[in-house]
Amino acid sequence: MDFTLKSYTSLITSLQRAGYKFITFEEYCRGVHPEKFAILRHDVDEIAKNALKMAILEHNMGIKASYYFRIVRQSNVPKIIKEVVSLKHEIGYHYEDLAFHNGDYDKAIASFKTNLEYFRQYYPVCTVCMHGSSSSKYDNRLLWQQFNLADFGVIGEPYLSLDFNKIYYLTDTGYAWDGGKYAIRDIVENNHGLTFHTTSQIVESIDAEKFPKQCMILAHTLWSDNICQWIFLHIREFFRNNIKYLSLHNKFVANIYNWAVNTYWRV
Ligand SMILES: [Zn+2]
Repeated sequence: MDFTLKSYTSLITSLQRAGYKFITFEEYCRGVHPEKFAILRHDVDEIAKNALKMAILEHNMGIKASYYFRIVRQSNVPKIIKEVVSLKHEIGYHYEDLAFHNGDYDKAIASFKTNLEYFRQYYPVCTVCMHGSSSSKYDNRLLWQQFNLADFGVIGEPYLSLDFNKIYYLTDTGYAWDGGKYAIRDIVENNHGLTFHTTSQIVESIDAEKFPKQCMILAHTLWSDNICQWIFLHIREFFRNNIKYLSLHNKFVANIYNWAVNTYWRV
């Protein structure tokens, strides 16, 4: 079984064994650039409880990560945000304002500001990260073509601030490390020429010192040791991946997917 807390632990342990320093994205943006480092990024799209489990696990292993919370109720759980902060992790805003406001830039920037201030009551948030909003035709990052992140006291946005030719980017989107074809927006161009399917393949590469020295690893909150949840999530992700893929080519499927997503995700 992959994508369990056990396999996540093996990934962290192998990085520790190989001498990687764990830095938050905020630290990276403030100029902390060790020779070998891993930025652990968690986009808390849903199941906030699982984010806390990961946060405790990392804390017990003596490391820090960056947690990006959405404003929707499946992610924005104050009790959990406070606990993650108390474990010394970084908190950021996982924004989706342009998609929520159907491409209305004025409404989107106003809600971005309000939501950022909301999360700042828990932590002095200074980095943000876009949510992919795969069912929407609006790319949330486009907000920054009209507005300036620095005007909101934000010092970093992974998709805009990092050079992925230097920093290797790994994402578990679609429950696979090579699920790129299911990702609508969580895609980055790079010249590393490395792909992995399972976590154990990554561990092997780290152990063999073939893994890049600087990396950002995105792990969502679907990693679970609970067998029922693990099976449910794998089946759901299988169907969701295929619907996402189909919706790229079929407008009817895209409309139904968009309707389902808008109905499910509520603030
Ligand atoms: Zn997301």
